Amino acid sequence: MSLGSNLGDKRKNMAQALALLTQKGVKILRASSLYRTQPVGYTEQLWFYNQVIEVSSSLNPYDLLRLIKGIEKRMGRKPTRPSGPRPIDIDILLAEDCIIRTKRLTIPHPRMQKRNFVLVPFKEMSPGTTHPVLKKTISELWKKSTDSSVVRKLKPPKEKAEGLYIERKQKEKSERKKGLRAVSVGGLQT
Ligand code: ADP
Ligand code: MG
Repeated sequence: MSLGSNLGDKRKNMAQALALLTQKGVKILRASSLYRTQPVGYTEQLWFYNQVIEVSSSLNPYDLLRLIKGIEKRMGRKPTRPSGPRPIDIDILLAEDCIIRTKRLTIPHPRMQKRNFVLVPFKEMSPGTTHPVLKKTISELWKKSTDSSVVRKLKPPKEKAEGLYIERKQKEKSERKKGLRAVSVGGLQT
């Protein structure tokens, strides 16, 4: 699936969408980094945050679509123009090798191969996944893409990076202590 946001606190919106999916029983298996991306199509709007995730769910694609539409609505999405501003947009890109072409749902997503904001995070997460209709990997689709819009990887938020750093230092410290204890126990035994 692809997540996008360009209204409000974009990072928070992306995190909330993941939390709501999880709460509804959708398991997040893998996630790309967040990317800051230039709008495609309707360009007179703020840049987006985008991310690609891999999920597992017992729902069929139609029920999954209903679920994501519910999450979009709950997160304050108002109907606007296609590709217009929104706190959250969730699209189904692929569903294994399923091919669906109905009025309500098209899988693979018909525009995924034309959008850098999908291809770049998807390639980071899973470059070798094959598109079941185009029979090309995500890497190959990215090489062929003629989209020139800009996509930049975002660094993790500063507090998070600092938090992880402090966590790592504390772990190193406690491991050093444990090591010392092991040495002194060994010392007693000999
Ligand atoms: P967009 O994502 O193109 O900006 P919307 O999110 O408003 O626009 O989606 C418009 C409609 O596209 C949805 O109501 C949904 O029924 C339909 N749709 C068709 N295929 C998909 C798909 N693979 N993922 C998500 N929505 C889809
Ligand atoms: Mg959508």
